[in-house]
Amino acid sequence: MSAPKPLPPGSTIGVLGGGQLGRMLAHAATRLGYRVHVYEPQAGCPAGAVAHLEVNAPYEDLEALAAFAKGCDVVTYEFENVPSAPLRQIEGLTRLHPHWKVLETTQNRSREKRWLRDHGFPHARFVEVPAGGDLAAGIREAGIPCVVKTADFGYDGKGQLKVLAEADVAAAQARFAGQAVVIEQFVDFACEVSAVVARSASAAVRVFPIAENIHTNHILDTSIVPARVDPAVAASAERLARLVAERIDLVGVMGVECFVTRAGEVLINELAPRTHNSGHYTIDACVTSQFEQQVRAICGLPLGAVTLLSPVAMVNILGDAWRHGEPKWETLLAQPNVRLHLYGKAEPRPGRKMGHFTVTARDAAMAAELAEKYQARLAANAER
Ligand code: AMP
Repeated sequence: MSAPKPLPPGSTIGVLGGGQLGRMLAHAATRLGYRVHVYEPQAGCPAGAVAHLEVNAPYEDLEALAAFAKGCDVVTYEFENVPSAPLRQIEGLTRLHPHWKVLETTQNRSREKRWLRDHGFPHARFVEVPAGGDLAAGIREAGIPCVVKTADFGYDGKGQLKVLAEADVAAAQARFAGQAVVIEQFVDFACEVSAVVARSASAAVRVFPIAENIHTNHILDTSIVPARVDPAVAASAERLARLVAERIDLVGVMGVECFVTRAGEVLINELAPRTHNSGHYTIDACVTSQFEQQVRAICGLPLGAVTLLSPVAMVNILGDAWRHGEPKWETLLAQPNVRLHLYGKAEPRPGRKMGHFTVTARDAAMAAELAEKYQARLAANAER
């Protein structure tokens, strides 16, 4: 494969989506001397605050999007729900990484699951029910317990419901009336892990160390690295991530979320064709961060080393921490092994990702223990 010419520092990277992923990408890109333009429907976004230019217009505004693309040397996205149709037109105007087809496949659960099945990747068994289809029959086919998920616009557990007993079927029918859904077999997993993989235009692939993820209310709470799993499990997750990146023809960064079954089998749950929350630890604990890796991959630079410099735990800080006013950051800032990242969001809604912190320690267990302790202190302060 002949790779396009690398984009030199001073070139402009366009980012669709202005959330924290775009903000951390902008930090990494500007450190390497690139310019960053952000396209985001809502004004005052976290990425726009640290970029050279923020454009506020709907994704469907093809004229605004085309003008934006023409002002960039490469465009990428940090938000999975950018409609893929407007993205297609960018292709003719500038470089777009990852390709719009990657987003189209992964932003819809039906297409994503089908892609995993058709390419032979291990995944939880699933049944698709189209909009207006017979959900109860779908649930019977999938078997109880199962998880019903909307096909479109689902992330962080949004748009999903567990069906643990026959009595839950009616609630699922009411909740998903008129929507296309995917019904997945409920996986009684031993743990969840994820891999962040990067692939360059010249087909080089690097996988960051596997993270062990703990979710609360379907939202990522803590990532621990190295994952405390059998080395064969970590190797299997790494191999799957590498294969997905190759088969989907990724140029950029992708998060691959997996379930580890009690038998030690690794099943792919979800693909996100962008940097991933479970990869935030790389900023403080790896030679290259996932954000710098994204810059390198989309600009045609050599990929960076993914070496882990220290065991680490990453904890998300949600809007709930503001229940009684500004959290007492000094509880974190006083610790020499803690680094705090805040995304500059004005409104701390419950469940909204406002920031994160990392704790480095001599081993993963210690990092996890300290992370839990500091998280509890922050929460205790929020109770007052
Ligand atoms: P998702 O939005 O698909 O990433 O799901 C969010 C979280 O819900 C996952 O990380 C799991 O903790 C849980 N979950 C989702 N699907 C399943 C499933 N089929 N079986 C068990 N837990 C699930």
